[in-house]
Amino acid sequence: MGILSILGLMEETKNIVLSRGHNVKNWQVLGNDCYTLECADCKKTVMIKEHPLPNEIKVGGEAVAVNCVKPVKEKKLRKK
Ligand SMILES: [Zn+2]
Repeated sequence: MGILSILGLMEETKNIVLSRGHNVKNWQVLGNDCYTLECADCKKTVMIKEHPLPNEIKVGGEAVAVNCVKPVKEKKLRKK
């Protein structure tokens, strides 16, 4: 798989994650062929592997499977 197709997969995956309401920005590089996105709100992640092993999947993680649950703003904790 070339760099263009991994970029396409990253964009496609990010769009799915965004459509689930997650607050994601930039991909983090975990390794040679492994990238991850983390939601700033619910901390769910999605991971992409460019060259998955036979027992692995190319795209995985909770952020593609479930909708974002926004954290409840605890105003009481922000005492000054
Ligand atoms: Zn989220």
